[in-house]
Amino acid sequence: MKKRSKDCAICNTAFDTMYRIQHKNPKTWVFVCKTCLVKVKKDNPLYTYGGTWKR
Ligand SMILES: [Zn+2]
Repeated sequence: MKKRSKDCAICNTAFDTMYRIQHKNPKTWVFVCKTCLVKVKKDNPLYTYGGTWKR
């Protein structure tokens, strides 16, 4: 099923603006919301920022 918005990979909530990041192994791209972005990037050597996605 296709949706117009993406769900955050961590809190499973849809937002209009999402952040494309890698934050764990294996390194795959996931979309997260700003709140989760701030949480996972803190002290995280695996964190990589890949861009912002807007609906
Ligand atoms: Zn989230």
